[in-house]
Amino acid sequence: MDLKCKSNRENQIAVKQLEKNIYRLQDSSKFVSVDAYLVCGTERAIVIDGLEEAQGMYDMVKEITDKPLCMIVTHGHSDHAGRGMREFMDKGCDIYLSSRDLYMVEKLYGKDLKREQLHDLEDGMRFDLGNVSLNVIAMPGHTQGSMILYMEDRKRLFSSDAIGSGNLWMQLKESSSLTEYLKELQRLYEILNNDMDVRIYPGHSAQISSYIEENQDYLDCRYLVELTELTEGIINGKLTGEKKEIPMEEMKGIEIFSVKGNYVADYCYDRNKR
Ligand SMILES: [Zn+2]
Repeated sequence: MDLKCKSNRENQIAVKQLEKNIYRLQDSSKFVSVDAYLVCGTERAIVIDGLEEAQGMYDMVKEITDKPLCMIVTHGHSDHAGRGMREFMDKGCDIYLSSRDLYMVEKLYGKDLKREQLHDLEDGMRFDLGNVSLNVIAMPGHTQGSMILYMEDRKRLFSSDAIGSGNLWMQLKESSSLTEYLKELQRLYEILNNDMDVRIYPGHSAQISSYIEENQDYLDCRYLVELTELTEGIINGKLTGEKKEIPMEEMKGIEIFSVKGNYVADYCYDRNKR
């Protein structure tokens, strides 16, 4: 299945079935494209993230599944908690988000936020969809409330921005120090056990570096291993990145540096927050 939303010329969502019961919904309405995912079980279905500006996400998901729906928002950034989240909220769906990122969503939504439908997303939670389930793993770093979802029996990880998508932003004011982040990477390494069968579906799959075999639109444990090595290298001073300018208001005053690996194309960090 590969279809395009025809309802709105400016704001299109491309849907791709990645494998049985897993779909990617891609919003390319802005310069940087962003992905959400739909996981369908025999009893329920879950949408992971709410895209940014594209309209019609709720209707597209309803075309794919008639199961009861809820949404998990992996972190509070506007490209993951955007218009799709608003549509699901307006349709009465429950939304799960870490309370540590709630302040971002409060800023985005103001008085429109339907708090009675918002639930805290915590490490160790498990969403049972019938024949499949998703485990919630907290992975603070990119933001303090960043969460990832692991479908353990199928070895599929939905990582959003927590480990980046080739590009990684750790320079943000809301990001952890790299020393703190390293512990989270090591924890994830333990969980995945360097298993090359694990497919990691990130939040911006269009950024996945061309290192990967042709047509591979997911990350794997090689990426995680390199990300861990790069993080160690930056912390212990063996690696010094290149200075980088990002012309955005919220980047003012931050000394952004970037390192590159074979798999990790652009790892941005704040030189003063190692
Ligand atoms: Zn983000």
